[in-house]
Amino acid sequence: MSISEKKSSPKSETLFAKAKTIIPGGVNSPVRAFGSVGTDPRFIARGSGSRIWDEDGQDYLDYVCSWGALILGHAHPAVVEAVQKAAALGLTFGAATAREVELAELICKAIPSLRKLRLVSSGTEATMTAIRLARAFTKRSKILKFEGCYHGHADPFLVKAGSGLLTFGNPSSAGVPASVTADTIVASYNDASSVEEAFQKFGPELACVIVEPVAANMGVVTPNPGFLELLRKRCSENKALLIFDEVITGFRFHFGGYQSLCGIVPDLTTLGKIIGGGLPIGAVGGRSDIMEQLAPLGPVYQAGTLSGNPVATAAGLATLNVLQSENPYPKIERLTMTLVKGIKKIADDAGKKISINQAGSMCSLFFNPGPVDSFERVMTSDREPFKKLFNQLLDRGIYLPPSPFEAWFVSAAHTDRDLSFTLEEIENVFRGITAG
Ligand code: PMP
Repeated sequence: MSISEKKSSPKSETLFAKAKTIIPGGVNSPVRAFGSVGTDPRFIARGSGSRIWDEDGQDYLDYVCSWGALILGHAHPAVVEAVQKAAALGLTFGAATAREVELAELICKAIPSLRKLRLVSSGTEATMTAIRLARAFTKRSKILKFEGCYHGHADPFLVKAGSGLLTFGNPSSAGVPASVTADTIVASYNDASSVEEAFQKFGPELACVIVEPVAANMGVVTPNPGFLELLRKRCSENKALLIFDEVITGFRFHFGGYQSLCGIVPDLTTLGKIIGGGLPIGAVGGRSDIMEQLAPLGPVYQAGTLSGNPVATAAGLATLNVLQSENPYPKIERLTMTLVKGIKKIADDAGKKISINQAGSMCSLFFNPGPVDSFERVMTSDREPFKKLFNQLLDRGIYLPPSPFEAWFVSAAHTDRDLSFTLEEIENVFRGITAG
């Protein structure tokens, strides 16, 4: 396809212009504005399996999959049916329901460190609650996080935070008082010496360390051997809690948490995305003695009108049931491996130095000779070729995350044919990028 065949999206353009008059930046979450890829966003009308359709009727092979929530792909029949059935019985009660108990039981069985679990409505609420719990339980104020890890947009995390902020190059957000972040210590992911330094300086004052066990918000960066073990060890020695933020990694690699794969037991875990099957959900869980600090049992306040929502729990349960019965994990990991190997070969043949990090069914391409194992290295990646790749693939019907610092997600609905098509188009684009 030549550039003259570029897809035109008049309806998306009109909608974006209108949206900007009424919604700040025209979007309800910043990365959706396509700011870092220099084009206008497509407005999405529908999705099915591995594909989405924009308002102009053009289809795209989707590697965003609602930022990892849709591990089964779009509009999976079992999930849609469960949602329809639940919706017909009432959308929300603000009261206890059987399905909440069923979902909590299923999740706790799959992730044994979760002795008790509370459902909330987003990952942000889950991490916010987790650090509140940690602070209450330890009676300490300081928290340690890692640069490039993203834990949602609660104020204490917005210190050199990742995700969208990385793209905008802002070290933190306006509107967050210095007093609120004064207790947030930031260390470098995969850097043992920065962890040691943080513990030497602040160890006895730390309520918790919070980490994405596989970082996926600065692109995918896997933990170096020994890194997570070090966190566990220093937390235990210093009586600080270890929180694994598994909002992305939970149920992404197998039917459970990444923690079972790496063999490290955190004190608290946060979840989201996949456990809601595409509807708004989050969860915080862990040791009983910590979880029992939550109201109404304990003194830590936390609540939510739509927490444990009956439609969201139906979508989550349906998704988890399909994952458990069909075990699509080996297939999606193999597909992702095909993609990664294929891109490496294309880049090699084109004489282009790139790195691709893969963890299970997620991966990220960095225009960087690598290895890309830290936030600093991520930041030395070349953004311009990613921008070209993104735009040219979009025109060819492939929808990547609209930022060089996000994970690409492969779902159980993706097929070998989808992957072959993607590789063919990437090859075509790479020729252009390297020639240009
Ligand atoms: N933690 C992690 C690891 C995430 O990736 C995200 C969102 N991408 C969050 C927390 C926040 O979740 P939400 O967007 O549902 O608030």
